[in-house]
Amino acid sequence: MGSKKITLKAGIDFHGHLGPWLVLGILAGQTALDKLGCAKYFGLQVKAWGVIHKPKSCLIDGLQLSTGATYGKGSIEKLNSPSVKVEVRSHKRNKKVVFTLKQGLLQKLEKLNTHAESETLAKRIFKSNPSEIFCIKLSNP
Ligand SMILES: [Zn+2]
Repeated sequence: MGSKKITLKAGIDFHGHLGPWLVLGILAGQTALDKLGCAKYFGLQVKAWGVIHKPKSCLIDGLQLSTGATYGKGSIEKLNSPSVKVEVRSHKRNKKVVFTLKQGLLQKLEKLNTHAESETLAKRIFKSNPSEIFCIKLSNP
């Protein structure tokens, strides 16, 4: 889709600090736009499950930044669930893409103790191929 990639710096400027959940949100959002073939900001509905509390909720900021779906426009919502899942739906294309986290990554995220460890993992995730991080399912709603 040729949409401009979000830099880590843009992520930190928006969110205030660097963390793996922020980066996961950025990557999921960007990948969603690519897979759906749709543009930022409008015609999208984003839902995120299992990210009610920090640090997981930092994912929401990554999603808002990368998809342009925002609370102000009412195009993003977070829902309760024991497991993390992100759905991005394109009204125009009548398609949705669903992201869940790969098991190994979840274990790494749960073991983080320090800010330094979090930042290191965040940078590593940022450089990863999305298919290494997420299980990605594209479908018609
Ligand atoms: Zn954060």
